[in-house]
Amino acid sequence: MNILELIEKKKNKLMLSEEEWIFFVNEFTNGNIPDYQAAALLMAIRINGCNDEETYWLTKAMVNSGDTMHPVATNDLHILIDKHSSGGVGDKVSLILSPILVALGYDVAKLSGRGLSFTGGTIDKLESVGVDASYDPIHYQQQLNESHMFLMIQGSQIVPADKKIYALRDVTGTVDSWPLIASSIMSKKLAITGDYIFLDLKVGSGAFCKTIDEAKLLAEKMLYIADRFNRKLVIELTNMSTPLGRCIGNRIEIKEALEFLQNNSNSDNLHDLIYQLVSNIMVETKVVGSIQTAVYKIDEVLHSLKAYHAFMNYLKNQGVDTTQIQNNQYWHPKFQYEIKANNFGYIHYLRADEIGLVSVELGAGRKKKDDPIDFDAGIYLNKENNEYTVLGETIATLYSDSPIPEVAIQRFLNNVEYKKQPSKPSKNILMTLKN
Ligand code: URA
Repeated sequence: MNILELIEKKKNKLMLSEEEWIFFVNEFTNGNIPDYQAAALLMAIRINGCNDEETYWLTKAMVNSGDTMHPVATNDLHILIDKHSSGGVGDKVSLILSPILVALGYDVAKLSGRGLSFTGGTIDKLESVGVDASYDPIHYQQQLNESHMFLMIQGSQIVPADKKIYALRDVTGTVDSWPLIASSIMSKKLAITGDYIFLDLKVGSGAFCKTIDEAKLLAEKMLYIADRFNRKLVIELTNMSTPLGRCIGNRIEIKEALEFLQNNSNSDNLHDLIYQLVSNIMVETKVVGSIQTAVYKIDEVLHSLKAYHAFMNYLKNQGVDTTQIQNNQYWHPKFQYEIKANNFGYIHYLRADEIGLVSVELGAGRKKKDDPIDFDAGIYLNKENNEYTVLGETIATLYSDSPIPEVAIQRFLNNVEYKKQPSKPSKNILMTLKN
């Protein structure tokens, strides 16, 4: 078998066999196929696609390219959940939802990623307050026993094929391929065994799926893969046409997550999405019989601070000095700039990704894969989408450890419209698909 034959086959829209997918994944991961040939194959896949069977074989070969993890749930319910979000702007869902699930008696185990371009990454947010989220093949069960949750970075031992293939896709225009996205996301989910995978697939200007049709297509591919692996997968298509919550950045998002866990959220869209996602998990796993009971139980773990303590316990076990967190001493941006409304009306942020890119201009995200991050940088939306503002009121505050660049201010202002009437609120969960 040689790689040139595989490229020729895909170029001519032919199907590759399971052995051929294994060959490509293993030989590329081991450094025996050069980037230029792998890139040619990836581009042929991007243009000519793969059928479901091929996508499954590719995913399987990727899962088998490195370690797999087999954690066991030890919390009250003995249910192990992987709750993953495909990523968006201001998306701190994993930081809030995981400790709520722990407080409700579940265990949570997942791999998370770093941010790139307009989307933030859970791992960056955790590292911004000193969490050690490195992949630990030896102690993951101990982490789960102590904290009932772990969120680890992929590293180079677990699904190494995805790490290499993704890096090449990123620089060869082959990220936007449904079989490659489906196999990339699912290989990281399947490398950890557990009871349920809940996937929050973001749709809209602040996500990589811009339309519901694209997201549905991707969701169907992932459900097929989950079926073949005999794993339960629930995919919720959720709205990412506007930032989630009021904070965008790293430490600033930790702050918003902690406030939420102290029952002190001031963002309706974040509040409603978290309640809907958690109640759906509780009903789907048959822990409660109705959404109403679920909401009652979520209220209970937030009011009693059980979820907050679950997060603090996790932080402590991951090496964080929690007194600094409790005393609010972890977020000290040196510079800030208040953006004032230059009109009256209901705020309409045109594109969520533009707001994500403003946060990148401030230093909160990366333009290139290995760029350093300013953990203090970020945005606070004094006005969320659809809130009324008067002339001269502060609509957003920009933060950074460097002087606030003019380009960030202009980019933010160019993305704001003032409407005479509020827009019709869109649903948080647009569609649910499951196997
Ligand atoms: N997230 C991933 O992990 N992989 C992709 O290809 C796209 C988003």
